[in-house]
Amino acid sequence: MTPVLALRSVSKRYPGGVTALDDVSLQVRSGELLAIVGPSGSGKSTLLHLVGTLDLPSSGTVEIDGQDVSALPDRRLSALRGSRIGFVFQQFHLSDALSATENVATGLLYAGVRRKDRRELAVGALKRVGLGHRADHRPQQLSGGERQRVAIARAVVNTPSLVLADEPTGALDTANGRAVLDLLRELNSQGTTIALITHDRDIAASLPRRVELRDGRIVSDTGTASGRTVVTRSVR
Ligand code: ADP
Repeated sequence: MTPVLALRSVSKRYPGGVTALDDVSLQVRSGELLAIVGPSGSGKSTLLHLVGTLDLPSSGTVEIDGQDVSALPDRRLSALRGSRIGFVFQQFHLSDALSATENVATGLLYAGVRRKDRRELAVGALKRVGLGHRADHRPQQLSGGERQRVAIARAVVNTPSLVLADEPTGALDTANGRAVLDLLRELNSQGTTIALITHDRDIAASLPRRVELRDGRIVSDTGTASGRTVVTRSVR
């Protein structure tokens, strides 16, 4: 089966000479839940931007569902991003002017779904994250944990191929952070493919697969089926 995400020898150099990613190869298959973990400056945000098709690699290829993103014109790239990738951010990025339902429905704006159906799907997604009873609340009437659940509902409402969660518990206290992680695990057990970007080794350790970045390189990948850790640096 085609992986939902394939990076092949991806490097990213920023103007000024910083090599933020250096020959990174990675495959993610449908149904996985993995952590991309590394200290500050290791290249996590750069990787997130490339996988989220918000930026292009300097060399190498990024494929989403088998499509090379650098081969797509802008409009098709936006369409691919809108339909295949769900984003969850540390700071939620909800609109204060919109209800929870309306915020979630923005996840369907580029999906060609009629307005009436958007609302219904949004309410369904809110129910999936346990917030059916908060559908008409605005973000400022919700707790941090609830806001993140709204953001997660928005990310999954369009059943994307891959959810990218960037430090999703970073702005939450321990209990709410744990609840958000449990929710991501539950969505994964129902089939959602999730890559969680974190600097927190404990969070990473609690997920089935861990890909560790350091200085722009993957230094270990626990992989999927066998659970065997592959240390890539020692064989180079
Ligand atoms: P992380 O998210 O793990 O903290 P980043 O991907 O943000 O890592 O950064 C990796 C490296 O690339 C760092 O050395 C950082 O300073 C550098 N970097 C990130 N973004 C830019 C940019 N826009 N221009 C120049 N250097 C950058």
